Amino acid sequence: MSLAETIPHKLQANIDSLIDNVTPSPWLSEADKSDYIEKIKALLIEKNAVLIAHYYVDDELQALAESTGGYVSDSLDMANFGAQHSANTLVVCGVRFMGETSKILSPEKTVIMPTLDAECSLDLGCPIEEFSQFCDQYPDHEVVVYANTSVEVKARADWIVTSSNAIQIVEHLMAEGKKIVWGPDKHLGQYIQNKTGAEMIMWQGNCVVHDEFKLYELEALMEKYPKAEVLVHPESPESVIAKADFVGSTKQIIAAGKKSSADTLIIATDHGLFYKMSQVVPDKRLIPAPTGGKSASCKSCAHCPWMAMNTLVNLYEALRDETNTIEVDEATRQKALIPLDRMLDFSHQQGILTAGDA
Ligand code: SF4
Repeated sequence: MSLAETIPHKLQANIDSLIDNVTPSPWLSEADKSDYIEKIKALLIEKNAVLIAHYYVDDELQALAESTGGYVSDSLDMANFGAQHSANTLVVCGVRFMGETSKILSPEKTVIMPTLDAECSLDLGCPIEEFSQFCDQYPDHEVVVYANTSVEVKARADWIVTSSNAIQIVEHLMAEGKKIVWGPDKHLGQYIQNKTGAEMIMWQGNCVVHDEFKLYELEALMEKYPKAEVLVHPESPESVIAKADFVGSTKQIIAAGKKSSADTLIIATDHGLFYKMSQVVPDKRLIPAPTGGKSASCKSCAHCPWMAMNTLVNLYEALRDETNTIEVDEATRQKALIPLDRMLDFSHQQGILTAGDA
C-alpha cells in the first residue's frame, strides 16, 4: 500500500471515534430558540459582526444568517463575502477549515466560530506532515488540493481548487504538460480524472457524508420515481455519480435544480442543502439520496456530524464571550494565499464560478 492509501486508512479509526464523540445539539423549546435568536441579533449589531453560514448547517442558523444581513453559501463564497463585508468580526458557522479560509482572506478581522471542534474528514484525513512527504515523492508534479484542507496543506499546494473550478484548472495544467498530485478527496479526484483524462497521483481521503451514498438503494429509489432527476455532488462514489443527471458543487446543484423541468429531484449531498433548495424550488419534491437502506451502516446519514455541532447556544456563547477565534500563523497564511489567489485569478479570467466546495 502506498503512503497515499496507508495514511487515510490508518486515520479512519480516529475519524470514526471523533464522529462517535460529537456532542449532540441541545434540544431547545420554541421559546428558548426565539430568546437565543434575539440575543444573537443584538450581539451582532453591538459587536459589528456578520453571520456567515454554510449550506450544511442547521436550518435555523441559515435562516438567522439571512435575516441579519449575513450570508449562506459554500466555503469559498463565504470567505469572499466576509472579505468584502464591512464588519470587523466574521462569525462563521461551518467547520474549521472554513474559518481558516475566511482568516486567510481577512487577516485583519476577528473570525469567530460557534465551536472549534467542528472538523471535516477530508481535512483530518490529510495531515500536513504525511501529505507533504507524499508530495515530496513527486517533485516534478503540481500539487493540487481541494479547498477542504487545513491552512498548512493549502500552504504546501501549488493550486487550490473547488468542485466548481477543479475540472477547468486541471485541464489548464494538462495543456501546460503538467502532471498532478491530487488531495485529499479520492472520489472528486476520480471524477476529475474521468472527465479530463489527466495523469493524477491521488491521496485517498473521503468525505464521511458523501462516501455513504449507496448505488443499490439509489437504483431502487430511481425505479420508484422514474421521472425524477438525480443531482449528485462529486464527493460521492463513482458508481453513484454514474447514475446522475447532473454532477456539481452545492451551488451548481441549486442552479441545476432551478433549471430542471422535473417535478422530483433526488439529491446526493448533505441534507442541509434542502433548506436553500426548498426556497429556490418550492414546488418540487426533494428526496435525499439513500445512504443506507437495508445495508444501513452510516454514521452521518447524509448530514455532516461536525456541521451539526453548530448550534444557537454555542453561537450565542462564542459571540458573547468572543471565544473560539481562528488564529493562523502569518507566514503560513501568506504561503496559503499564493495558491488561493492563483485560483481566484484564474477563475476570474475564465469567467468560472470560484465558489463551490463541500
Ligand atoms: S460534509 Fe464532508 S466535506 Fe463537508 S465538512 Fe462534513 S466531512 Fe467535510
